[in-house]
Amino acid sequence: MAFAITQTCCNDASCVAVCPVNCIHPTPDEPDFGSTDMLYVDPAACIDCGACADACPVDAIFPVDSLTEPLRAYAGINADYYRGREPVANADPAPNFHAWGPPSFTRAIPGDFPAPDVAVVGTGPAGMYAVEDLLLHTSARVTLIDRLPVAGGLVRYGVAPDHPSTKKIGETFARLHDHPRLRMKLGVQAGRDVTVAELAERHDAVIYAVGASSARKLGIPGEDLPGSLAATQVVAWYNGHPDVVADSVDLSAERVVLIGTGNVALDVARILTADPESLAVTSISPEALARLRTGKVREVVLLARRGPEYAAYTSPELLALTQEGGARLVVDTHDPRIAGTIDSATGGKAALLRDVARETVDWSAPPEHGQRRIVLRFHSTPTEILGDRQVRGTRVTDAGGETEIVAGQVIRAVGYRGAPVPGLPFDEETGTIPHTAGRVDAVPGAYVAGWIKRGPSGGIGANRACAGETVGTLLADITAGRLPVAPRRPFLRRR
Ligand code: NAP
Repeated sequence: MAFAITQTCCNDASCVAVCPVNCIHPTPDEPDFGSTDMLYVDPAACIDCGACADACPVDAIFPVDSLTEPLRAYAGINADYYRGREPVANADPAPNFHAWGPPSFTRAIPGDFPAPDVAVVGTGPAGMYAVEDLLLHTSARVTLIDRLPVAGGLVRYGVAPDHPSTKKIGETFARLHDHPRLRMKLGVQAGRDVTVAELAERHDAVIYAVGASSARKLGIPGEDLPGSLAATQVVAWYNGHPDVVADSVDLSAERVVLIGTGNVALDVARILTADPESLAVTSISPEALARLRTGKVREVVLLARRGPEYAAYTSPELLALTQEGGARLVVDTHDPRIAGTIDSATGGKAALLRDVARETVDWSAPPEHGQRRIVLRFHSTPTEILGDRQVRGTRVTDAGGETEIVAGQVIRAVGYRGAPVPGLPFDEETGTIPHTAGRVDAVPGAYVAGWIKRGPSGGIGANRACAGETVGTLLADITAGRLPVAPRRPFLRRR
């Protein structure tokens, strides 16, 4: 019997580090890492020790024999990754795509260097992976800062409430909050309550892991009409974010159009069409749940400008949607290319849609059916959000030229966007802070990690390697004497 990694894999590779036979791939030093939807256990090499399941921060790893029905496909999904891959010559029996190198302890600061004081701004995944690295692998003292009065960042306010295993990683991070070399400063916004210069003055280095707090714009007419809102706002709403008022999401429309097919779009579609009673046992905001109970949404339409093979969601999230007992999933076959792509696919995301219901939908009227459903409409590029004082639909260009989709609400799920931090450089094009391997060259002592460093893509675990690179750069700078020498003043004493 072997173990298998399943839907909620966070890709942070905690499992890789503890596997005694190196049977989990891709590892962080392999080329595939970061480009696969998840990590995979090789069933031929797994020795069934369970170390990976113990180390997994999101409870994603189970013995193949105990996989329950919705997860059973993952036995094959794990095995498929290894089909046709050759192990390196000296690595039998595990398929080491790279042989083990000698152990290296790159995190050590030489003994004659004093323990540095490092501020980490942001308590989301990137900030917490940086904190973990600093606390567990160096002698650094850490000041952890967040603008909100509660720690957690996107784990608390971004992960959908019906994904409790993913939210569980917050518990792993929270254990570090009590570390003797860490102090927390919550409710303090860098760039507003304390300046970048003040933070620099009081610490040897500052790592900004402030995420991407705003939403990308579409740049089409009607985007700012009442009834058109960003998915980031909906996500914050159902997670009870303090910045979002409870009545900011209007659920009086029967059809909602969601622009984009990323995992955020799937999260929002799932929550809006779920049986509210199934959400009552989750961490959903009580106000959002009350509104969902009285809401009228029956149909959520996801608009993709490309075909099913290029959808932005990950395969595990789509697979879950095809299996869950929630809303019915339907593919709109308005364009003959769609059925063609799905039917000829031999793998990948398009093939997962093979058994999904198909329909050529009439979009000129509101939905007539009673059942809640999610419709995937590929090859549809939104060109305008329609309405005068309130959204009444969307115009898309498609194979038929143009189609108007009647809808009372439009949610733009086209990605997050980083916001500038006063005192730090900012690249308007990418919404990120320019850096070299995590170092903000323009501001000595400043570093970045997470979405503000590399842009708003990648799940929680992707931040581990990202923060690791930044901490590595910071430690190299300390060792090389590249950090400015800070006159020490206690943090925020004057405020
Ligand atoms: P995303 O994955 O980048 O998806 C953005 C979507 O917006 C894509 O479908 C994209 O289409 C579309 N789009 C962009 N510009 C558009 C335009 N002008 N017109 C129409 N469509 C447009 O972003 P996200 O959904 O916000 O997710 C961010 C990251 O968080 C992702 O890495 C995601 O996997 C991760 N995440 C993971 C989970 C999970 O694991 N459960 C949950 C939430 C988020 P194109 O592909 O055609 O550009």
